[in-house]
Amino acid sequence: MARPQPRFPEPDTQPFYDATKEHRLTYQQCNSCKNVVFYPRAHCTACGSRDLAWKDSKGVGTVYTYSVVRLNRHPAFAPLGPYAVAYVDLDEGFRILTNIVGVNDPLTDVKIGQRVKVQWEDQESGIALPMFAPA
Ligand SMILES: [Zn+2]
Repeated sequence: MARPQPRFPEPDTQPFYDATKEHRLTYQQCNSCKNVVFYPRAHCTACGSRDLAWKDSKGVGTVYTYSVVRLNRHPAFAPLGPYAVAYVDLDEGFRILTNIVGVNDPLTDVKIGQRVKVQWEDQESGIALPMFAPA
């Protein structure tokens, strides 16, 4: 079973998910006050301007914090076994809720402050989900 997927049309996040099809991690920056905005939305969270530009992230950041889900009974997640859910601070200045992948044991191999890099998980729906692995 697939992970739950976003439903479209969704005007605020559609450009973000369209970019994931090309494995581009995008965020927004306000053209008025230069505030970095994420998750995608129609207005700047600092000044309220609707004049936002889309930017590509290099996909490199630092684990801000994390938790390990030891058992998820949802059919899409149960086969994963224990997995790490983390907030990652991207170098461009935004924070994303994601999973840490590419570690042998998420209980011992994920650390706050760890450098991580985006790793895409392609979905049957055509989009891809940005996960992060040790850099
Ligand atoms: Zn602004």
